[in-house]
Order: sequence, then structure tokens, then C-alpha cells
Amino acid sequence: MINTEEILRDTYVKVDLGRIAENMALIRGMAGPDVAVMPVIKANGYGHGAVQIAPTLMEAGASYLAVATLTEALELRDAYPDYPLFILGHTPDRLLHYAAENCITQTVFTLKQAQILADAARRAGQTAKVHIKVDTGFHRLGQIPSDAFADEIAAMFQLNSLEVEGIFSHLALAGDAEDEEQFGLFMDFIEKLENRGCSFRYKHLADSIACVDAPRYRLNMIRPGALIYGMIGFEKGHLPVKQALTFRSAISQLHRIPAGEGVSYDYLWKADRDSVIATLPFGYADGYPRNMRDKGYVIIEGVRVPIIGVICMDQCMADVTDVPGVCEGMEAIIYGDGSDGSMTIEDASHLAGTNKNDIIARIMARPPRVYVK
Ligand SMILES: *Cc1c(COP(=O)(O)O)cnc(C)c1O
Repeated sequence: MINTEEILRDTYVKVDLGRIAENMALIRGMAGPDVAVMPVIKANGYGHGAVQIAPTLMEAGASYLAVATLTEALELRDAYPDYPLFILGHTPDRLLHYAAENCITQTVFTLKQAQILADAARRAGQTAKVHIKVDTGFHRLGQIPSDAFADEIAAMFQLNSLEVEGIFSHLALAGDAEDEEQFGLFMDFIEKLENRGCSFRYKHLADSIACVDAPRYRLNMIRPGALIYGMIGFEKGHLPVKQALTFRSAISQLHRIPAGEGVSYDYLWKADRDSVIATLPFGYADGYPRNMRDKGYVIIEGVRVPIIGVICMDQCMADVTDVPGVCEGMEAIIYGDGSDGSMTIEDASHLAGTNKNDIIARIMARPPRVYVK
């Protein structure tokens, strides 16, 4: 039998639920009483574990929990029969009935989608809730504002067993002028719909960056993702959120090698002095960027040590010659909150040439997660 409480690997992700609660409280406070907060916990809660963090977010005042896909929503529905759940993405017509049957609010952008949901809801004795997606320039999901689209939306309001609860769009964050143009298109379209008698309980546009930087884009609901986890992307505003996740490992073996020896595939790194090399049991299959070679580092006993040589699938090596008293089993901090000199998610994104969400999304698959309060 496996003890599920036991951590079965030395490489694991530690999630501080207290920090997630604090970040959510800061966001709730920033939003004020008139703006609903819908935390985005797609991609398994940005790697933090959607099912595990959901209660913390609900207790801290979330109005809805948003995911990207039907499968993500159904996993949460299984765990929490009563939480309000929202699918930001497209659900294929043949699968829409699952959203209706499971009381999951679905993004729609055609009358046909709304009709399918209404039919399924009626059969299930439910009312399907939808939010309309408007394409204001991103060209990812939704229809651009037009008379024909407005007609479709007005027709949705006539459907039985369907509640058009909200309308939303998404900013490309291409620049202030471009954001303002998208915002203008969105608000004009809403005004036009309201003049036709279509009213929406929720109107939303802002992700993490927009909700901090541009208060007027908050409308009456915001959709923070990165911010929940303490990742900072805003530039103009400020909110002292803190990174909730750390990524940790421990030295599996030490090698004492003479100057001139190579390490790892192709011997791309060679020792220029007699060296102590630590093997660390994490690699690119754990989500550590393979292109961190010659850039990556970990913190061992407070000392910053470089990752050396080619990063392998499951392991990598670090030069620990300068760590006093180094021994096998010592902890290595891969990503921390920076307070100990560790590499933050932000640092990692710069070094790997990508963004923060990509760095944490990559850690998802293999390493176990450990939760602390
Ligand atoms: C992922 C997502 C968000 C959250 O984005 P962050 O940048 O992480 O805050 C908000 N809205 C939509 C539609 C999304 O897909």
C-alpha cells in the first residue's frame, strides 16, 4: 500500500495555501464591494492543483471559479457539487449538454450554441447559464460587434431554460491605445444591446494585468489568473501579492571530479578546477526548461550554485564545489520567492525566454504537490 500522505519523490512542488488566501484577499480588497472576482484556475490552477486550491479561493470571496475546458470543469464539479464554475473556452456542440447537466456556466458566441444548451437544460430540468464572448480585436474567440451578432444575442434572451448572465471580452494588451480601442468597442456594443432590452448581470474584460493597471476596465467582474498565484505582471498599479509556489529538490549523489573532466551529454561543460558535482533528480520532463543550460541555478544551503552541462530528461547536475559541508540529501531550491536568493518564476521566465504562466504550466505533469497552510 502506498501512503498517499508520504512524498514519494525528492522533487516536488510546495504550494502555500496561506499565500493564495492572502493574495485573493488583496484582490478582493482592491476590487471593492461592487466588483465580483472570478479567479482563473485553468491548467490545473496554473500547476498549483485546481481541486486543492478551490476551497481556499471560495472561502476568500470568489464569486465563480473559471477554467478553460469542459474536462477541467467536470473534474471540479465532481469534487464540489455546489461551486459556481465557468468555462472560458469553446465547448464543442456535441459536448455542450455536459455543461448544462452539471450547472456549469458556458461561454457562447452563437445562437446555435445557446439553443443546444437550452435544449439540454430543459431535458435535465435545469437552466443553463451563459456569458457571451465578444471579439473586440484579439481574434481568438467570440464574434465581432455587428447587427447580426446583436440579433443573435437578442434571440438568446428569448430562449427558455437559458439565462444570459454575462458578456465579456479579452484584451490583447498590445498597448494603451489598443486596449482603449477594444474597451470602447466592447462598451459601445453593450450599450447597443442594453438599448434593445438585453441586460447583463456580469460584464467583464480584465485579466490580472488589466485589473491592477486599469481600474476602469474592472467593470463589475474581474478574471485574475497569475495574480492569484502571486505572479506580478502589472506595471502601473501595484498589489503586494506573493508567489505561492516553490519548486524543490534534493541532492541525490555527489561526484568529486578532477579538473578537465566533462559532465553530462556531449561533455558540453568541463571542470576548470577539481570540482564537486551534485546530481539533482529533476529534468525537463519535470517542466524545468531545457534551455536553462549555462543559465540555471539552484540554492543549496543558501549558496547559489550553477546548473552545469546539458539538462537531462529526469536529472541535471550542479557545481557545488563552493558549498561548505555539502552532502547528499541536502535541499535544492529550484524556484522560490526570491527572498533567499532563489530563482523566482519571473526570473525563470526571463532566463528561458518565455512568460511566467508558461514556466508554471510546464511544472504540472510529474512532480508531486505538497500543501501547507
Ligand atoms: C487565462 C485567462 C485569464 C487569466 O489570465 P492572467 O493573465 O493569468 O490573469 C483571464 N481571462 C481569460 C479569457 C483567460 O483565458
